[in-house]
Amino acid sequence: MKRIKIIDLIKSDPNPYINNQVKVEGWVRTKRDSKNVVFIALNDGSIIHHLQIVVDNNKFNESLLKDITTGSCISVTGILTSSQGQGQAVEIIAESITLYGTADVNTYQLQKKGHTLEFLRENAHLRIRTNTFGAIFRIRHAMAFAIHKFYNEKGFFWMHTPIITGSDCEGAGSMFNVTTLDMNNPPRQEDGSIDYSKDFFGKPTHLTVSGQLEGELGALALGLVYTFGPTFRAENSNTSRHLSEFWMIEPEMAFYDIHDNMDLAEEFLKYLINYALEHCMDDLEFLNKMYDKSLLERLNFVAVTKFERLTYSAAIDILEKSDQKFEFPVSWGVDLQSEHERYLVEKHFKKPVILTDYPKDIKAFYMKQNDDGKTVRAMDVLFPTIGEIIGGSQREENYDKLSNRIHEMGIDEKTLWWYLETRKFGTAPHSGFGLGFERLMLFVTAMSNIRDVIPFPRAPLSADF
Ligand code: ATP
Ligand code: MN
Repeated sequence: MKRIKIIDLIKSDPNPYINNQVKVEGWVRTKRDSKNVVFIALNDGSIIHHLQIVVDNNKFNESLLKDITTGSCISVTGILTSSQGQGQAVEIIAESITLYGTADVNTYQLQKKGHTLEFLRENAHLRIRTNTFGAIFRIRHAMAFAIHKFYNEKGFFWMHTPIITGSDCEGAGSMFNVTTLDMNNPPRQEDGSIDYSKDFFGKPTHLTVSGQLEGELGALALGLVYTFGPTFRAENSNTSRHLSEFWMIEPEMAFYDIHDNMDLAEEFLKYLINYALEHCMDDLEFLNKMYDKSLLERLNFVAVTKFERLTYSAAIDILEKSDQKFEFPVSWGVDLQSEHERYLVEKHFKKPVILTDYPKDIKAFYMKQNDDGKTVRAMDVLFPTIGEIIGGSQREENYDKLSNRIHEMGIDEKTLWWYLETRKFGTAPHSGFGLGFERLMLFVTAMSNIRDVIPFPRAPLSADF
């Protein structure tokens, strides 16, 4: 007999399974004994809700029932019936049960409910079995799917940019090295430095910090592209919003100026939030109830609210005039901290904000230079509870301006020859941005630590599992 997923048994309407024999397989969440009946709450991961299994204990072997404990895995065949009990519409009257795997009551970590998120982080191999993490990772899947759906519907092409990169211009200092050299005894040059010509690729290589530069090559050929893949940053920032390995979505568009870029970013975020509201309501309701009673309200609000757009300079003005005490003082030219970003979003405007035209000295070399000589056509999207969720810009398409900026910033032009050639041959105005996938996940799930929205988080001093 074929297994039916619990989501299908619970949600099918009309329900073809009712009063029929069905087979379910899953993990036991709780077992409750009463006089002649045992009630098992079974979860198979397909949905947050458990299915109740009603077991007449006269019909089953006592030692089998004793071995069925929280965490054990069973297969149940029985009749799906309308439930008489409260809290569930259907239940299964068990006819036969197979025990696939026991879970020792004394050693199984999730034997009891109510563990802290910290404890669960240390048990990342099992935390996926909890209601919370089941909800989070189902939503994570839905968001990844919606991202591809959004860009596919708009005629963008998904471009696979490399994970191992030979250029270190963007993230010098914050990149992980990739090498097969023996670090205890590396080949040396005459001056004592490591001889990377003997390394696997014949040169130093790193894990990518962004697919953008390669994405631009795609945009200047295919028109509309996006990347969606893992990126790596070796910054020692142990915050609740930074990971060492995180996923990023980076659309890159030929013939888009910064306004088109902002329009796309806003439409994109609203699309994803609406997708979650339409497809993940059971999981969102759980998170709303357990973690943040204003989650659904916030999602519904952002989904329909026009984002505020203003320049960095105007934002600095607002921050300077506010009577808020900031840990990091504000003046024109500083990089905004998340406390500043959140003040603008949560206190001042009370809605998402897009800031543009940042000082060139705090932004990357490739951003389009404004005529004032001081600012660039950058745009950051700032979100409630998060701060920066998207960073992007119109790109500098002028060869001389770009090359000058590269020299000014002390970047070795030789490592970027291929990138500069796009501005030499058929250059075009273009724009793009990067959305941190886990920052989006923080917003959609109301989790407060970014380590709780990726199955196996990597952070400084933490790469277990
Ligand atoms: P921040 O100022 O928040 O550290 P950033 O300006 O360094 O971010 P960008 O290089 O602009 O980040 O990257 C684009 C997006 O990727 C950011 O807007 C953010 O959503 C996400 N992001 C950046 N760094 C991280 C990280 N270490 N972990 C998770 N997401 C990140
Ligand atoms: Mn940024």
